[in-house]
Amino acid sequence: MDFNFVESDEHKMIRETVEDIASDYDDEYWQEVESGMWPEEFWQDCADAGFLGTVVSEEYGGQGMGLEDFAMITEEFAANGCLGVEMLFVVNIVFGAVTLEANGNEEQKEEYLPGLVDGELNWAMALTEPNAGHNAPEMETFAEEQDDGTFVIDGTKQWISGVDKADRMLLAARTTPAEEATKRTMGVTLFLVDPQDDAIERRELDVGIPTPERQYELSIDGYVADEEDIIGTKEMGLYQLFDTVNPERLIGASGAIGVGRCALDRGIDYAKNREVFDGPIAAYQGIQHPIAEKYSELHGARELVRKAARMHDNEYDPKKVAEVSNMAKLRASEAGHEATDVALQTHGGNGFSREYAVIEMWKGTRLAKTAPGSSEMMKNFIAEHTLDMPRSY
Ligand SMILES: Cc1cc2nc3c(=O)[nH]c(=O)nc-3n(C[C@H](O)[C@H](O)[C@H](O)COP(=O)(O)OP(=O)(O)OC[C@H]3O[C@@H](n4cnc5c(N)ncnc54)[C@H](O)[C@@H]3O)c2cc1C
Repeated sequence: MDFNFVESDEHKMIRETVEDIASDYDDEYWQEVESGMWPEEFWQDCADAGFLGTVVSEEYGGQGMGLEDFAMITEEFAANGCLGVEMLFVVNIVFGAVTLEANGNEEQKEEYLPGLVDGELNWAMALTEPNAGHNAPEMETFAEEQDDGTFVIDGTKQWISGVDKADRMLLAARTTPAEEATKRTMGVTLFLVDPQDDAIERRELDVGIPTPERQYELSIDGYVADEEDIIGTKEMGLYQLFDTVNPERLIGASGAIGVGRCALDRGIDYAKNREVFDGPIAAYQGIQHPIAEKYSELHGARELVRKAARMHDNEYDPKKVAEVSNMAKLRASEAGHEATDVALQTHGGNGFSREYAVIEMWKGTRLAKTAPGSSEMMKNFIAEHTLDMPRSY
C-alpha cells in the first residue's frame, strides 16, 4: 500500500534506502532475533547508511538531522517488516545519543557519540524498579557520596533492556532521599556505569512478547562511580530524563504505526488471495471496513507524531511538545495495535501461525500501549496539562 502521499525528495531517498536494507532481512531473520540473536548485520547496515547518527550532530559523526527524520526512518523500517526496530533505536540511540546530546558534557559526547553512530557501542538505560514504575520518584536505588567524592550505588532495577550487550548504561539513582529533597522529582542523579561490572548482577526475565533485546532484573551491590560519571547536573536527573521521554515516545509510536502498516499490508494481500465462499474474502465489507478504518487511523496518528517531532526539532515550548507527544503516543500505540488485530482477524486461523508473523506483530504492538509510558498515563497527562483538569492521583 502507498502510505506516502506527500514526501520531500530527501525523505523519498531515505525511504528507498530503508526499503533496500529491509529487503535483505526476512521474517525468519527477525524470528531468530526474537529468539536471542543480536541483529549484527542489520545494525551495521543502519550504521553504514548513517541512520544511527540521524539525530547526532555532525561534529560527532552524525547527520545533524531531526527527530522527524528519525521517526520517519523508524516507521519505514517497521512497515517493511523489521520487527522491534523501534526498541533497538530507543535503547541505543534515544537513551544513548539523545541523552548525551541534551545533557552530556563535551568529553562524554566525544567519548561516546561516535561509537553509537558507527554501531560499535551498545547502550542500556536503567530507571524502572520493582516498586517504581510510572511513579519514578519512588525509586530506592541510592548513590551514597563518599568523602573522596566517589559514589557507592546499591539497589534493584527491573525490565532493563539489552544489558547483556551494553557497553554503557545510564543509571538513575537517588542522591537525596525523596523526603529530604526540595521536591520529590528532585534528588535523582544520572550516572553512566559499566553494566558488565561485577557489582551489577543480572537475571534474565522470562518475557512473553517478541523483543530484539533481552530484558533483565539488576541487583546493584556497591558499584563505585566517579563524579565524572554523572550525566548533566547532580540531583536533576529526572528533569534531564524528560528530554529523552518525548523522543522515546515518538520513536516507539513510529514503530507502532509502521508495524500496523505492515500488518494491514499483509492482511490485504491475504484477503485478496483467500477464497472461502465465492470469490476472495477481500470483497466482503466485513473485511474491508475494519482495514479501511485502521488505515485512516494510522494516517491520523502519523500526522500527530510528525507534528510533535517537528515541534521538538524547532524547540517549541517543552510543555507544548510534551502535550502533542502524549497525544501522538496514545493514538499511535492504539491505532498500531488495533491494525494488527484487524490483520489477525483477516488471516483467520492462519493468523495464529508464526509463519505469517501477524501474531508476532500483534504481541509486539501490544507492548506500545504499556511502555514507554502507558495509555493511562498519556490520558492523565492530557487531562491535567492540556485540559486543565485536576490531577487524579
Ligand atoms: C519489554 C519492556 C522493556 C522495558 N525496557 C525498559 C528499559 O530499558 N529501562 C527501563 O528503565 N524500563 C524499561 N521498561 C519498564 C517500563 O518503562 C515500565 O514497565 C513502565 O514504565 C510501566 O511501569 P510498571 O511496569 O511498574 O507499571 P506500573 O507503574 O506499576 O503501572 C501498572 C498499571 O497501572 C496503571 N497506572 C499506574 N498509575 C496510574 C495512574 N496514576 N492513573 C491511571 N493508571 C495508572 C498503569 O498505566 C499500568 O497499566 C520496560 C518494560 C518492558 C515491558
